[in-house]
Amino acid sequence: MALSGGTTDRGSHSMDKSITLPPDEIFRNLENAKMFAIDIGGSLTKLAYYSTVQHKVAKVRSFDHSAKETDGDLLYEISVQEEITARLHFIKFENAYIETCLDFIKDHLVNTETKVIKATGGGAYKFKDLVEKKLKLKVDKEDEMTCLIKGCNFVLKNIPHEAFVYAKHADSEFRFQNTHPDIFPYLLINIGSGVSIVKVEAEDKFERIGGSSIGGGTFWGLGALLTKTKRFDELLQLASKGQHTNVDMLVKDIYGGAYGSLGLTGNLIASSFGKSATTDKEFSKEDMAKSLLHMISNDIGQLACLYAKLHNLTRVYFGGFFIRGHPVTMHTITYSINFFTKGEVQALFLRHEGYLGAIGAFLKGAEEDSKLLRPNKVLLLSH
Ligand code: ADP
Repeated sequence: MALSGGTTDRGSHSMDKSITLPPDEIFRNLENAKMFAIDIGGSLTKLAYYSTVQHKVAKVRSFDHSAKETDGDLLYEISVQEEITARLHFIKFENAYIETCLDFIKDHLVNTETKVIKATGGGAYKFKDLVEKKLKLKVDKEDEMTCLIKGCNFVLKNIPHEAFVYAKHADSEFRFQNTHPDIFPYLLINIGSGVSIVKVEAEDKFERIGGSSIGGGTFWGLGALLTKTKRFDELLQLASKGQHTNVDMLVKDIYGGAYGSLGLTGNLIASSFGKSATTDKEFSKEDMAKSLLHMISNDIGQLACLYAKLHNLTRVYFGGFFIRGHPVTMHTITYSINFFTKGEVQALFLRHEGYLGAIGAFLKGAEEDSKLLRPNKVLLLSH
């Protein structure tokens, strides 16, 4: 499945599926000033940039003429119209390649009218001088949480089939949700390098109610230590091929079977990596990567469920680049949420999981620009 379009990395960066922007006021007249925004996180730099695509659209009109001239046939009139569609494109770079990212911006997005760059994430502070020096633009910082939530609200309300439920064993693995104006309240678990847990009650009302340092950076970091593979995608590939039961201690390894009176099946993980302390054999990279992916996804799943219950929330969305639309990750998180809440809480994933902050920062810029609109420049946007 191509969840976010081309999700495989080509070297240092990869492009992801673009979205068509809804025909809102704020996207009209977007010229060049704030056509892009950047989100520099702990691991990855995400870029969202705007372009318009002009294309011809065939419009078909049918006429049901009375029998006389046409023997009752339907007549069709086909006209071709020009439409301009506004699109938002995405690209991500590992932070180690931030200079490549800045070169991309300089070569493709900056023009003589560009004066500022909208930036969010910790890197908007850490790399401010580098960005300003290299691009000769002023960094316009936006708060990370505000952008994250703004981006999340936007995609949930506007982008068709953005959110979906993952069900590994169902007939259709992905159950896409319709967009809905009434999205609140919900819980957002953003799994980036670390984890942020945010309760969102209205467009501008949210609170970061928790977090964890055991997140995507932990999978990447511990995974690199265990397998000597520093590439995230390779780690995921290893995990896909592994058997976690070779490394983890299961309930049945302790009980010889299920612990029936507590409702714990024999195959449940009792202790992640529990077998490694007592077994002398070497463990395969695949098995260790799988066990690690399970450990982190289960842990976050349980945290999500506890926070959801504590705050009476039944919808939990997962964002952040750790997920990467990866079936094992989504299944483990879904399984653990179902297990702990007995199905009361729903785990939902997002097609643009990793770009919420960048989308939010872009929208901030677009809103600011729309206040400076020049009325003679109207762009038609089609959805
Ligand atoms: P941050 O804003 O903290 O960088 P992200 O939402 O971008 O957070 O997610 C970063 C995490 O995504 C990494 O720690 C890693 O677990 C995972 N990840 C996904 N794709 C990649 C990749 N190509 N390279 C490195 N990490 C990746």
